[in-house]
Amino acid sequence: MTVQDLPRIRLDDPFWNAYRQLIREVVIPYQWEALNDRVDAAEPSHALDNFRIAAGQRQGEHHGMVFQDSDVTKWLEAVAYQLAQAPDPALEATADEVIALIGAAQQPDGYLNTYFTVKAPAARWTNLAECHELYCAGHLIEAAVAYYQATGKTALLDIARRLTDHIDQVFGPGPGQLPGYPGHPEIELALMRLYEVTDEPRYLALCRYFIEQRGQQPHYYDAEYERRGRTFHWPSHGPAWMIKDKAYSQAHAPVLKQDKAVGHAVRLLYLYTGVAHLAQLTGDAEQATACRRIWDNLTQRQLYVTGGVGAQSHGESLTCDFDLPNDTAYAETCASVALVMFARRLLELSPEGRYADVLERALYNTVLAGMALDGRHFFYVNPLEVHPATLAGSHRYDHVHAVRQRWFGCACCPPNIARLLGALEDYVYLQREDSLYVHLYVGGDLDFIMAGQRWQLRQRSDYPWQGRIGFELDGAPQGGTFALALRLPDWCPTPTVRINGAPVDLAPLTRAGYCHLRREWQAGDRVELDLPMPAQRLRAHPQVRQLAGKVALQRGPLVYCLEQADNGADLHTLSLPPTATFQEFKGHAPLPQAVHLQAEGKRWEAPDHTAVQALYRQGPMPPQATPQRLTFIPYFAWANRGEGEMRVWVDER
Ligand SMILES: [Zn+2]
Repeated sequence: MTVQDLPRIRLDDPFWNAYRQLIREVVIPYQWEALNDRVDAAEPSHALDNFRIAAGQRQGEHHGMVFQDSDVTKWLEAVAYQLAQAPDPALEATADEVIALIGAAQQPDGYLNTYFTVKAPAARWTNLAECHELYCAGHLIEAAVAYYQATGKTALLDIARRLTDHIDQVFGPGPGQLPGYPGHPEIELALMRLYEVTDEPRYLALCRYFIEQRGQQPHYYDAEYERRGRTFHWPSHGPAWMIKDKAYSQAHAPVLKQDKAVGHAVRLLYLYTGVAHLAQLTGDAEQATACRRIWDNLTQRQLYVTGGVGAQSHGESLTCDFDLPNDTAYAETCASVALVMFARRLLELSPEGRYADVLERALYNTVLAGMALDGRHFFYVNPLEVHPATLAGSHRYDHVHAVRQRWFGCACCPPNIARLLGALEDYVYLQREDSLYVHLYVGGDLDFIMAGQRWQLRQRSDYPWQGRIGFELDGAPQGGTFALALRLPDWCPTPTVRINGAPVDLAPLTRAGYCHLRREWQAGDRVELDLPMPAQRLRAHPQVRQLAGKVALQRGPLVYCLEQADNGADLHTLSLPPTATFQEFKGHAPLPQAVHLQAEGKRWEAPDHTAVQALYRQGPMPPQATPQRLTFIPYFAWANRGEGEMRVWVDER
């Protein structure tokens, strides 16, 4: 693939334009300051300094995490997407300087990792289970691919290829090679991207090797643990816990034999994103089945209504089916970013609306919630219920914050949001044979070739606030036959379509979540999709004990929440009666353009119990309900008005 072959999409969408402007004008410059330790954060980054030290340009010690390098390369990847959208010579010059610095830190044999180069050069590749060298390589590769595609410059791609060629020599089944694979998957999905731009079959083969070696016996993590004298890097949960708990890094069984979504959520989702991409390019049906098996378990048994993944802080991991606590949820921002990436690859395997439904849920709720509306504060953990007074002094709530933070010692999430939102183009459309699928309702102009002609498709809407979406075809003077396949979201019970003003009977055209509008299209044809967005109550499967008797509100793709700023303290005493109806309104803080919801609710109190100051009391204690109007705001916009309580699931009574 060359730079010119990339799909040509220009996003132009009121909702996303604002975010993209924020990424360009605030987030990327802010993160540059953070990487240079010029942000007043509790834990400085040191990430660029580590490269300077590894390059011999500065004296000093390596600081920060063993994977600190990836903060820089993820920022570079986000920069690449900006440069792909519009030229920015100053930003490009800064990026080129960073790329030169990375090149200077690369070792003569291609090896590149500042932690080991500075701190433990003799210990390279001795602790794959815990030490992230292949993970960091993956992020460097992804940045290199994106930067090459955006600018046509090959400096970073050359660095990435030298590193990958080195890795390809170190790992494999041959004599003197290591039969290992990463503790933290990421390089798998990156190698697939590198293969796509270089057509180098060794990169595809290396990806396949890492995936097929995973979970084989005798176990590689145990073998390397013995070889290096039983040392371990992460003592937080006991000696060598990360090595012993193979499921934590999805290394407990070969990929084809894994039947449940387990372990560290981001590792799981990066791994299966790579597996799905490999399966799609090679046609490996067994790997495709394995991906769908994990997806089904994850999304039908372990997914938060906000598109969050990972029910516990311990190991940043999944727990078991139907275990979805609200207040101790982990739901790392990166996990939802990775879920979006996994969904994209599954859509490429088989375009089924259920993948895009989850993609949309994760994108519009947890991914967006990961960043403040000011672009300078971030959530790592995305709970569905917070009471600030409980956060201090309890390890149950480790890593949970009631307000977003400026930066993190482990800063994986902020640049992940920047790179995903910068590459939103990749998630909107899919062209397959004679069908053009529309996964997301994101406005913009698409150039595509179908039926031997060049077409333009213009998409316009006020999504996610309104569900009326207009499409207009242009170009293609001879016209041509193909299917425009529009996703019918799972949240919308009554979609309608008109073509050039005439209503379309959707039932015979709808399969797997898309309506397939197949006809001979002409320039000037117009399609109007109407997705009515009434506020709806969601109820959880009866086995989710944390959600019994509760409802969440959703309107369109957005999940809503109660905040203390609108509803007063003690949100747990509020309820939504089964008969309550919802009024929509705009103009409310913190997001005036948002559609907010109000309903007549109740507040439950027991004044006679409060009066006796007893924690428990015998006998009947009928609480009294007083009317209270409840105000719901979109979940992604919570915690933009200072510290306060929040909850997504509210008692229904
Ligand atoms: Zn993260």
